[in-house]
Amino acid sequence: MRLDGKVAFITGTASGIGRAAALLFAGEGARIVAADISETNHETVEIIRSKGGEGTAVRADVSVDAEVARAVRTAEAAYGRLDIAFNNAGVMLADDADAVSTSEETIDKTLAVNLKGVLHGCKYAVPAMRRSGGGSIINTASFVASMGAATPQIAYTASKGAVLSLTRELAVLHARENIRVNALSPGPLRTELLMSYLDTEKKRERRLVHVPMGRFGEADEVAAAALFLASDESSYVTGANLMVDGGITAAYVTPD
Ligand code: NAD
Repeated sequence: MRLDGKVAFITGTASGIGRAAALLFAGEGARIVAADISETNHETVEIIRSKGGEGTAVRADVSVDAEVARAVRTAEAAYGRLDIAFNNAGVMLADDADAVSTSEETIDKTLAVNLKGVLHGCKYAVPAMRRSGGGSIINTASFVASMGAATPQIAYTASKGAVLSLTRELAVLHARENIRVNALSPGPLRTELLMSYLDTEKKRERRLVHVPMGRFGEADEVAAAALFLASDESSYVTGANLMVDGGITAAYVTPD
């Protein structure tokens, strides 16, 4: 098994990429601490246990420093160590648009979850990983951090650009401590986050125009890439931004 004996802290595990990763990592032998604000988060851990895996659900708002601290402490208290932190929870708010019209409230909320949430995860994972002799941190960014968004979502795009920047800096800072820090940039996925934003067939078709593969990605396809970054197979990979995007960031013109 690819994560045998490892302990993984994952955020945003009630749905989408986070849930897919929690189930995949558990199936590869990791013990999971699954953190989310949603009431349905416990279902993820119930599925893990029903398949013979080990996991603990924690209610934590990643934008709140003390709640992330408590969640990471739970991992060490329950399983004795921390090897993997997948800082994945994120929001895309409905009224996020251009710089002129986006409300301060939307900017603050987006940065609090998408940027501070990732920083908090790193803040508490690094000392825990030092105690474990090293580890792998994976921060979920987005293709929009590299490309911009087709329809403006300035707070979201800015938050994801910041995730890329902090990932690079932390990768260099902790490289000699055997702590690897990488970003994962999904393309447009068929998850709740994007489908509730692209809420008509017309909007969905418009987004797919830019995707060379001509389809939305699945949460499982991103979880598979996260598994590579989490495992020792990526032992010489740090400071990278792994695109899992159906070719969108490679597209200058899209084939008919
Ligand atoms: P999702 O909405 O299915 O899952 C996000 C999860 O995060 C939910 O379970 C939600 O409850 C949780 N969450 C939200 N705010 C939280 C908070 N403050 N504290 C703790 N948990 C919180 O979305 P997803 O598509 O799986 O997105 C996961 C990550 O992937 C996000 O960072 C998102 O920005 C990123 N991403 C998604 C897409 C896409 O097309 N879906 C593309 C690029 C990047």
